[in-house]
Amino acid sequence: MIIVFEPAATAEQVQHVYDRLQEWGFTPVLQEGAQASIAITGDSSSLKAETLEAFDGVQKAVRLTQPYKLVAREFKPEGTIIERDGVKIGGKHFAVLAGPCSVETEEQYLATARAVKKSGAKVLRACIYKPRTSPYDFQGVAEKGLPWLKKAKDETGLPLCTEVMDERAIEKTLAHVDFYQVGARNMQNYDLLRALGKTDKPIVLKRGLSATVKELLLAAEYIMAYGNHDVILCERGIRTYETATRFTLDVGAVPVLRQLTHLPIIVDPSHPAGKRSLVPALSKAGLAVGSDGLIIETHPDPERAWSDAAQQLTFDQFDQLMKELRPIAGAVGRTMD
Ligand code: PEP
Ligand code: MN
Repeated sequence: MIIVFEPAATAEQVQHVYDRLQEWGFTPVLQEGAQASIAITGDSSSLKAETLEAFDGVQKAVRLTQPYKLVAREFKPEGTIIERDGVKIGGKHFAVLAGPCSVETEEQYLATARAVKKSGAKVLRACIYKPRTSPYDFQGVAEKGLPWLKKAKDETGLPLCTEVMDERAIEKTLAHVDFYQVGARNMQNYDLLRALGKTDKPIVLKRGLSATVKELLLAAEYIMAYGNHDVILCERGIRTYETATRFTLDVGAVPVLRQLTHLPIIVDPSHPAGKRSLVPALSKAGLAVGSDGLIIETHPDPERAWSDAAQQLTFDQFDQLMKELRPIAGAVGRTMD
């Protein structure tokens, strides 16, 4: 059940309904955007919409049939804009997150940070733990990279986004990074989602390789259910019968998600492309189809990259792409500034 308040409802009216729901033994969750709402996340079958609509300030009470509540568009009709360290993602704000697939060396990382900042990226990828399909592949520099992350942030001012796979990694990085990424392979790692739900950092939640839109939304619901409402969904390609690309970028998922959820949605063009020549076109598709941002892999010398060498853009390619994205952003009512 979602209770939507009149835009002019007072804080006292909202609080009154919240208190009454608690008194009745329900679990209300408050959303205080431009138009306040309350979600009841547990069983609310005994509650009648008419009872709730009789309270002063209530516009309507809607019973949701889908299992996700807090991510539902009905909970926050105006849409969520994530704001962190001066960066906005959502609404008219189109943000590009960029950086190497993996942090490798201090030199490689600082060069990439400087280059992506210059080209207009807003958030720096800072992946020191790498979830690799093969246990024999490079697994990330881990905590050894933390001083390099600090240098990159101090110099460029860009907030850092790092991938974590377990609670230990959250503890090690909490004081050092600004955004967390949940990789596709961990989208349904429920202990991880729960732990990230207890942090106060925005979470980029990547769609699992074979996850449905509903499963992605339920994974986001986990994070929100544990208290963190700053979730950014990421379409990064799904596994299909097609092998010409590494994964099939599900562009249709972006407008579908837009209808179903208030959360911002970004597109990762790098992993579905699998090769750099395809990244610009998929980036433009992501922007044109209505996403709120992109996450793009960039490297000073992609051929020598320690992971995902074939798909990372050179600095020149990234800069050129950013230039080509700007007029498209303008045409679809977005700003990249
Ligand atoms: C990555 O961002 O480098 C990554 C591993 O992505 P994904 O989880 O989408 O495969
Ligand atoms: Mn990668």
